[in-house]
Amino acid sequence: MSNFFSSGNLNNNEASNLFSKNENDESLKDNSLSGQYNKLKNNYEQIFIEAAESIRKDINEFKPENPCASCNKKDCNIEKKDIFSPYPAAGCKYRDWQMQALTYLAGDYRNKLKAAYKSIMDKKSEYECNKCGACCRLAVSEYSYEQLKQRAMRGDKFSSDFVSVFVPYESEEEAKKVNPEYFELLNTLVEDDKIYYYYCPKLGNDNLCTIYENRPDICKDFPHNPLKLLPSKCSYNEWKNAVAHQAMLLKAKTDIIAFYKQKLG
Ligand code: SF4
Ligand code: SF4
Repeated sequence: MSNFFSSGNLNNNEASNLFSKNENDESLKDNSLSGQYNKLKNNYEQIFIEAAESIRKDINEFKPENPCASCNKKDCNIEKKDIFSPYPAAGCKYRDWQMQALTYLAGDYRNKLKAAYKSIMDKKSEYECNKCGACCRLAVSEYSYEQLKQRAMRGDKFSSDFVSVFVPYESEEEAKKVNPEYFELLNTLVEDDKIYYYYCPKLGNDNLCTIYENRPDICKDFPHNPLKLLPSKCSYNEWKNAVAHQAMLLKAKTDIIAFYKQKLG
């Protein structure tokens, strides 16, 4: 699900903006949707390299030192002793190192990432909703209303919460009028994929939730992911700016762990 009300997954005290270390950078204050998107896009490559180097450094900490000197395998001619080299399946200390790396990444390292994710989400409590109502007036999903209801029937909690309050806009034009910038950006980004637009009729004319005490968890927990686009007026953009570098680093590390699993598993 990809929307202001988006599901998704995803470390700590860093400077005021995570996309850049330059606190005077005016772009840091740009909460427009295109500004948010450009910040993410422009910084991810560097962050990914940072994450890959950090993981490799950790893994090299337990790399064996010249085990080949005492190895009796005659047919091994691997020159570059890299973590991804094709070592013999048995009797090779470098292969043992690969297995150790997998165990480390799936265990202690993953736990560190989980703790970092929790810290990002905990930090959200330092910020408050300004009750602009933007997230209630426009939510989008790659699923149609029928698909969401089916997912809800199959036990998907997010979908169940979603259909308990949101209903589809009758037309894309209606949705576009609510937030033209978001509408245009999304259509540019997803290109051929279909997007469905929703609103919540429980939002009162005073811009307040009419079922506030009984609103579903997706509303209580919003925003669910610091890497998703937020409405420009959303006060949680400050939280997002405060944690985005760490969140992107976390996402990069999670993707890199998956790559290690695939290559070494
Ligand atoms: S239930 Fe309330 S908080 Fe949730 S989307 Fe509707 S109006 Fe907004
Ligand atoms: S400040 Fe953010 S969470 Fe609060 S109503 Fe506006 S868009 Fe929703």
